[in-house]
Amino acid sequence: MKTLAPKKTAVKTYAMLVDGKLVQAEGGALRDITDPASGELLARVPESGRADAKKAVAAARRAFDSGPWRKTTAQDRGRLLFKVAEGIRARAKSLAELEVRNMGKPLAEAEYDAADAAACFEFYGGLATKVHGETMSVPANSMSFVLREPVGVCGQIIPWNYPLLMAAWKLAPALAAGCTVVLKPSELTPLTALELCPILLEAGFPDGVVNVVTGPGAGVGEELAESPLVDKVAFTGGTVTGRRIAQAATGNLKKVTLELGGKNPNIVFADADFEAAVDGALFAAFANQGEVCSAGSRLLVEKKVHKELVAAMLKKAPRIKLGHGLTPGVKMGPLVSSAHRDKVEGYIKVGKEEGAKLVLGGGRPKGAEFDKGWFVEPTIFDHVKPSMRVAREEIFGPVLSVIPFADEAEAVRLANDTEYGLAAGVWTTNVTKGVRVLRELRAGITWLNTYHPTFNEMPWGGYKQSGYGRELGLYGIQAYLETKQVNINLDEAPLGWY
Ligand code: NDP
Repeated sequence: MKTLAPKKTAVKTYAMLVDGKLVQAEGGALRDITDPASGELLARVPESGRADAKKAVAAARRAFDSGPWRKTTAQDRGRLLFKVAEGIRARAKSLAELEVRNMGKPLAEAEYDAADAAACFEFYGGLATKVHGETMSVPANSMSFVLREPVGVCGQIIPWNYPLLMAAWKLAPALAAGCTVVLKPSELTPLTALELCPILLEAGFPDGVVNVVTGPGAGVGEELAESPLVDKVAFTGGTVTGRRIAQAATGNLKKVTLELGGKNPNIVFADADFEAAVDGALFAAFANQGEVCSAGSRLLVEKKVHKELVAAMLKKAPRIKLGHGLTPGVKMGPLVSSAHRDKVEGYIKVGKEEGAKLVLGGGRPKGAEFDKGWFVEPTIFDHVKPSMRVAREEIFGPVLSVIPFADEAEAVRLANDTEYGLAAGVWTTNVTKGVRVLRELRAGITWLNTYHPTFNEMPWGGYKQSGYGRELGLYGIQAYLETKQVNINLDEAPLGWY
């Protein structure tokens, strides 16, 4: 197989953005960032700690309380967001390639993410001017209206699976709403968020309005969750960390938005368009190496087509070409880190021990091009029992559990038999049945005869232990707004109560 050797470039040292300046961490500590497909050193980034996070929070606090930001109009904020979108579009190619090198995903997916990140800034740039309250004019001698105001200083903590896109999902609605922000990318994948810093500076946000601080969750992330100067924390990541953040945020009763994991059911009925369902089941499970909170990692298949569907998936699976995400034709990259590969391989071992039938993959791909990366083959377990750990726990890798079901009632019961409630898919040509089933599913994002497409204009978030609140769409900006009731007395006479 022809592989594209990682480009040899001088190793860049990045700066982070604090109070309108590109700075290094206090003490100058740096962290090496490597390519998960090749082990190549890509860049060095500031390794900050609590002191740096405190500085960024203080800058965001000042910018919110006393800077010019409070006086900007929604039109001005919208224009700034459009400039960020333009900056991302102008650099979309290099951002996508950098995302591949840092995170591992295939180039086509990273290109999609870069375009979507720009579109997210555009959507919220437009939405900034469309935030309205309500008015009420009863009783006759008074008037009451609702003002929507920014929540304040926001700590935003993002994961490693969609580094640029998650930065956009967090920054755009908060800035459109008039908040100030401190964004913390994942230690593993900070590069595209750091590439955003000059774009944010060029756009012309006042100092301190938007800050990006790189460093570990233990330290920087904790400070954002705990700080009494932060009004809201928004987090995307694992459920265990999400729970910790929610607890840390109780100190000053911050507003909290959590977008956590999932163990999402993808239900195929016997009357589904067979080829579409085969494609959809593979894409749901293996896009982005399965490192997706909304991955369709539990495939529920009606018994009548179970054997046939699994056979068709196995026939098609060799098309999921593994390799460096920049190599033409590659459809699946490495996992993000050695530790994460250990976790995923641990689950594959558990699946075998529990008696699930391994029908695809389960190991590391062979060949020199895979030796230095954290690759795992696309893996399918068949005849998985709903009680098995591989059916219940979020693996967050290319591991699909197939569970047969007898009828619609059983499909719904199995689908909802999870502590999570992020996403779900249904495949059937009977649209009435499809909608009926979707309405029974306890999940925040659902698809009929498709899987994964999502829109900046529509809400994203989960039921149950998949989190609190919604991102994106109108809901996304609401999450960064306070609601103030304003009452006006139109009666000039004294109240006369006493
Ligand atoms: P985490 O949820 O731990 O990390 C997400 C972000 O939170 C990172 O920026 C991380 O910092 C930060 N963080 C970690 N601990 C704290 C803390 N105590 N306070 C504040 N911030 C913190 O993801 P992991 O990388 O550890 O992955 C663990 C599992 O989570 C995965 O295997 C997967 O199951 C799930 N996950 C779910 C995601 C989703 O989109 N829902 C995304 C990523 C993971 P840093 O890592 O830089 O130290």
